[in-house]
Amino acid sequence: MWWIIVPFAAAAFLAVLLLRAAAFRPPSEIKPEPDTVEADGSRAVESLAAMVRCRTVSRQDHDAEDADEFENFRDLLRRRYPAIHNSCILDHVGRNGLLYKWPGKRADAPSVFMAHYDVVPADPATWSKPPFDGILENGVLWGRGTLDTKGTLAGILEAAEQLIGQGFVPENDIYLAFSGEEEIAGDSASEIVSALEARGVVPALVLDEGGAVVEGVFPGVTAPCALIGTGEKGQSAIYMEMESSGGHASAPPSHSIAGLLAAAAVRIESRPFPFRLTPPAAEMFDTLGRHSTFGMRLIFANLWLFRGVLDRICRKSGGELNALVRTTVAVTEMWGSSANNVLPPRAGIGLNVRLMGGDTSGAAVERLRRISGNPDIAFRKGVSSEPSAFSVTGDDDAWLRLKDAVSRTWPEAIVSPYLMIAGSDSRHYCRISRNVYRFSAMALSGEERALIHANDERIPVEKLLKCVQFYIRLLQSC
Ligand SMILES: [Zn+2]
Repeated sequence: MWWIIVPFAAAAFLAVLLLRAAAFRPPSEIKPEPDTVEADGSRAVESLAAMVRCRTVSRQDHDAEDADEFENFRDLLRRRYPAIHNSCILDHVGRNGLLYKWPGKRADAPSVFMAHYDVVPADPATWSKPPFDGILENGVLWGRGTLDTKGTLAGILEAAEQLIGQGFVPENDIYLAFSGEEEIAGDSASEIVSALEARGVVPALVLDEGGAVVEGVFPGVTAPCALIGTGEKGQSAIYMEMESSGGHASAPPSHSIAGLLAAAAVRIESRPFPFRLTPPAAEMFDTLGRHSTFGMRLIFANLWLFRGVLDRICRKSGGELNALVRTTVAVTEMWGSSANNVLPPRAGIGLNVRLMGGDTSGAAVERLRRISGNPDIAFRKGVSSEPSAFSVTGDDDAWLRLKDAVSRTWPEAIVSPYLMIAGSDSRHYCRISRNVYRFSAMALSGEERALIHANDERIPVEKLLKCVQFYIRLLQSC
């Protein structure tokens, strides 16, 4: 009998997999009616150019910062946005933090719009155009911060200034929260959260930098995707160190401490943290997977069976796909002897660990210690931030309002949650809100994303205009 039953069962099993893949299609969604939003694009460009001209470069060594440039920036906001400064209450929080409260009709469901006005340094010698002149050429505005994040900061303020000028009063209070030390992981954002917490503010929506409208980032999906970060990974600097009596390199032991550390690093690289599907990645696979090719849908619709296959694909590909599904470890630093003919008296390796929600920096150290296989290695934990909580999606009101504003602005894009693998200031807000989202309101190509923190950062002006329109739509719904 088996020779009948086995082929029959195999065929039935295959049919189930195929049927599930065939049914794994996007839900029929009612797309929002296309609307038009008027915004003054040339004014926004002038504002952003003026912001770029303030050299608000933040530095770990605060004395090396030019405090006047930061003051000039805040002064520029006062001059450029009179309606906001008349209608909103401005508090200076911490060293450089700005917190505007735009009173709404009610205080029940406040929103927070975040950005930062400090930038990373830019060396004019390596740029094609001066990085702090705000040059507009052929419809492109050049300058440090145009993408990260003076662009969205200008977008928020232009939208608010226009709406206030038109007499718009939001249903709920709106806070505009701008840090001046995001790039150096300063305390402004966390101090602003503490200030809000002290006032009993529980935001219904927090929006910070993060994902964008991007293309070609998900296997088999050709349509643009608007990726909204609903969680972010933590990170931890972890050091492995050993000591020896040193000595002359002419009579070495069979293994020096540098060699032992290197062997431990290879063991750590070859035993990655386990594959884990957290809600942001699971929701991303469930949303974007439905738009993918039949082959990919076969995998994503049957993850109960193909988890191992997906794990292998991710491990093999490395990079961003792999970073979505596990805590990653990058071997980044090595130090040892100061001379070629001297055995190192001390040696060490620095690991940059990006923690997946559910893992902690403490547990990561223990796992790495175990995997290193060498009890003589001392493990030390440096600067660490734990992974963020996951924000709500589904039919949550704030999520739907955000999705709607995105869909109206980029109707061609598939809106999807995702896990941010870099860090943002918004993680501090998880203390006071379940609705923390990370989305930089721009459609950015791979080349444009690569300009962030790099030479020749610049923004096409039509992208800035769309950014303003997006914030107008979202502010109107708050
Ligand atoms: Zn940055």
